[in-house]
Amino acid sequence: MIDIAIERMDILFNRAEMEFITHPERSHRYVELALKLSTKYNTKVPEKWKRRYCKKCKSFLSPGRNCTVRLVNSEVNIFCGECGHAMKIPYRKEQKNKRRAKYESIKKRNDE
Ligand SMILES: [Zn+2]
Repeated sequence: MIDIAIERMDILFNRAEMEFITHPERSHRYVELALKLSTKYNTKVPEKWKRRYCKKCKSFLSPGRNCTVRLVNSEVNIFCGECGHAMKIPYRKEQKNKRRAKYESIKKRNDE
């Protein structure tokens, strides 16, 4: 049952993306339905679509159309154009991992 819910959420988000240009209000409704599914079956929103809706007003976000994405202070800032809400997702951990991987590869090369 959970698999079906995840599949349906994916379908709804895909549909929302398709309909966004012609009927933005429909895509907001699809996001609402998908989030209802995630609450009902206690599942997470698919990784792919996590940044594509506003956490506050639940509207579908399309970068360049109704939201802006900026990198500020090691954070991804997503500003919703519908309500002005800003979502901040830090990427410091990824930076650290990248730096560590680079350091380790240099160390390995020196050891050989
Ligand atoms: Zn919003």
